[in-house]
Amino acid sequence: MEVIGLTGGIGSGKSTVARIFGKLGVHWVDADDVAREVVEPGTQALARIAAHFGEGILLDDGALNRAKLRTVVFENPDERAWLEALLHPVIRDELIRQLHSKDTDPGYALPYVLLVSPLLLETNQHELTARVVVVDVPEEIQIERTMGRDTNTREQVERIIAAQMPREKRLQKADEVVDNTQELSDVERQVGEIHKTFVVAFG
Ligand code: ADP
Repeated sequence: MEVIGLTGGIGSGKSTVARIFGKLGVHWVDADDVAREVVEPGTQALARIAAHFGEGILLDDGALNRAKLRTVVFENPDERAWLEALLHPVIRDELIRQLHSKDTDPGYALPYVLLVSPLLLETNQHELTARVVVVDVPEEIQIERTMGRDTNTREQVERIIAAQMPREKRLQKADEVVDNTQELSDVERQVGEIHKTFVVAFG
């Protein structure tokens, strides 16, 4: 069983492309979901965050106040480094555990699973993957689609894009590229071809 990485900038269409793979029967693990799970109430990581930043970093119900944590680390690179040193290994271990559980599912007949992650190439997560699929759109489409989906302003989206890997560098690291500029039927055709390539390569 191989792990294929699926990545792209914010609003490029990772979730959309993952769902299209899903329609072909492909299972996936979403690194954003895992990043939330590892800091749920009761986890060791959340206890360490509360010990480090103080109980004020928690909401009344004991869950992590993500907005507050984002503000703290945005303003302080040392705190950001501390948080990443704590969370990246924990997220990676949990990703491996969840990917492996797909692997050992006897009902699963395909030779690969997807790891969907916005930070696949920025972290060591790509080391878990045999191939990297990049979902690509020009920055203007990224901005428009993200603003259409979320309540972010243009400036906020531009700031997030500026903090992510530049488009050209991401494309250089791609084994396969999904051009997500056209309508969904066009994306489905591309995903179908990539899926066939992987089934032949790993089947
Ligand atoms: P990501 O997971 O990379 O952040 P999404 O898959 O959520 O991106 O896509 C961002 C937004 O753009 C969503 O609202 C989605 O429905 C829309 N979208 C994605 N692909 C297309 C497309 N080919 N045409 C039109 N809208 C799209």
